[in-house]
Amino acid sequence: MLIYDYHVHTDNSLDCNTPMIVMCERAIGQGIQEIAFTDHFNNHLLDIDLGFYDPKRYFEDVEFCRQRFPQLKILTAVEIGEPHRWQRRIQRALTGYSYDVVLGSLHWVGNENVFNENYFRARSPEQAYRDYFAELVRMIEHGGFDILAHVDLPKRLGHHYYGVFDATAFEPEFCAVWQACLDQGITPEINTKGLRVPSAQLHPTLEALRWYVALGGDSLTFGSDAHHPESIAQDFAAAYDCAAAAGIQYVCRYEGRQIIQRLPLAEATA
Ligand SMILES: [Zn+2]
Ligand SMILES: [Zn+2]
Repeated sequence: MLIYDYHVHTDNSLDCNTPMIVMCERAIGQGIQEIAFTDHFNNHLLDIDLGFYDPKRYFEDVEFCRQRFPQLKILTAVEIGEPHRWQRRIQRALTGYSYDVVLGSLHWVGNENVFNENYFRARSPEQAYRDYFAELVRMIEHGGFDILAHVDLPKRLGHHYYGVFDATAFEPEFCAVWQACLDQGITPEINTKGLRVPSAQLHPTLEALRWYVALGGDSLTFGSDAHHPESIAQDFAAAYDCAAAAGIQYVCRYEGRQIIQRLPLAEATA
């Protein structure tokens, strides 16, 4: 199996304590070909890690690890929270440093964080997910990033309040998200972290991915969203199976913010 894990954190994120060097050692031990370190760059004034991200330190870490581990291809990457809302601050980082790939993430709907129980307490399940997807479409239409991270993120905590997330109740919302991705040339990821939390589902699930394929989508990236070494590339076999069952054809590989290869999924899983 070829493994390109395009969503991994290091201690350049406040919510991860593992240095990049340890993440690389684990990745090599797991037989991974390529890894994108996607540390958080958050800019909401209420983000607990506001001001923490330091691209200079991050790029020094990557340079060090690239020299130390020539057998592992390391991509420079970043997970930007709400790229549609903090354009000026983000542009400064993105123009000053050469990233291979940029993830766009939505963690906030207005001034409410979807990891905070208040978001769910104040809403019906329908409203909680619909509000999120509506904001997500606005984020995608604004563009400026390459990969859409964890499309149905609120189910991680929503699960505690509403029970199992049923994507079929939100088909029009998913289709609006996928269409916006296709229009903008933004590639969705399958994020396996959803399997490691009580919601116990991939982001997205098979049915939601089928709507993406029905709209013409054929490519994805795969990310573990690892914040610990043991989570790197976890559940990739399940993610590949899900992608294949949905009719996905290709795994996208990036460099310099361009897709450099669409690897047939069958080759990655062989
Ligand atoms: Zn995230
Ligand atoms: Zn992440």
